[in-house]
Amino acid sequence: MRTLNGKNLAAAIRAQAEAEATAGPQPRLAVVAATADEASLWYVRSIAKAAAGVGIACDVVDLGADADAGQIGATLSRLSSDPQVHGVMLQTPLPAGASAQQLAAAIDPRKDVDGANPLSLGRLAAGLPAFPPATAAAVLALLDHYEVELEGRRAVVVGRSTVVGKPLAHLLLDRHATVTVAHSRTRDLASVTSTADVLVAAAGRAGLIGAAHVAPGAVVIDVGTNPTEDGGLTGDVDFEAVSGVAGALTPAPGGVGPVTTALLLRHTARAANLP
Ligand code: NAD
Repeated sequence: MRTLNGKNLAAAIRAQAEAEATAGPQPRLAVVAATADEASLWYVRSIAKAAAGVGIACDVVDLGADADAGQIGATLSRLSSDPQVHGVMLQTPLPAGASAQQLAAAIDPRKDVDGANPLSLGRLAAGLPAFPPATAAAVLALLDHYEVELEGRRAVVVGRSTVVGKPLAHLLLDRHATVTVAHSRTRDLASVTSTADVLVAAAGRAGLIGAAHVAPGAVVIDVGTNPTEDGGLTGDVDFEAVSGVAGALTPAPGGVGPVTTALLLRHTARAANLP
């Protein structure tokens, strides 16, 4: 079984981002947060640190957990019209009553480096240029890096969220895979997932995918990041059980995650260089 590590690929993508970021005026990313969730704030800080490492300026706009939808929307609109800012990202979770999807509509699609504006998803679905959500793009980047053939093959995506499952289904369709999307109402999940040549788990349920869910030799990508009792993270795939069946499997953490952050930076560098 091959382990599809994301760290080397992430380093290569960061190097590309740095080359693109230093070719012109310095790109600037603004990350808007309105949460007290420690894991979420940790992720935001890790983005800022990674950005600094590749020559991208990153402003964390922390509105606090008491911010309301009006304040968040006004902040996104202000950043979207600021010519000094090239990329705008809205971090989740948001306070109760604030909808990420509705608010993300305020992000200029040309600055929507994490593909959160519904217009970006629509453009993606229509096959038009758009920034895909970095996580969905990271899955494709990993499959490409490890030269996994997609054309004509059966891909099953577990999860239908607008940030991962749906955009990923479109990206896989564009690459001529035969795509099935499974979700929480899917009956007999194992009978669906075990038809996959390429299986992507993005449900946010630790250990959801076991050996019985995987066809022998399948390529399995684990997007899940679930908190463990000891303060760590674990994926949606039971790594030990599935590694006895799959042909290739990403570790989680250490697979999709680092590639996601690197792609967010590359998207920002590209947004800064848009004509
Ligand atoms: P979400 O909660 O919005 O969506 C989860 C999806 O999984 C839903 O469509 C739901 O129908 C499906 N689902 C839930 N339980 C299921 C079950 N028992 N069987 C089949 N399907 C089921 O979550 P999300 O934002 O799409 O994130 C999914 C996972 O990916 C989470 O663990 C999240 O932390 C992780 N994530 C990782 C990264 C990264 O960079 N590695 C980025 C974003 C999200």
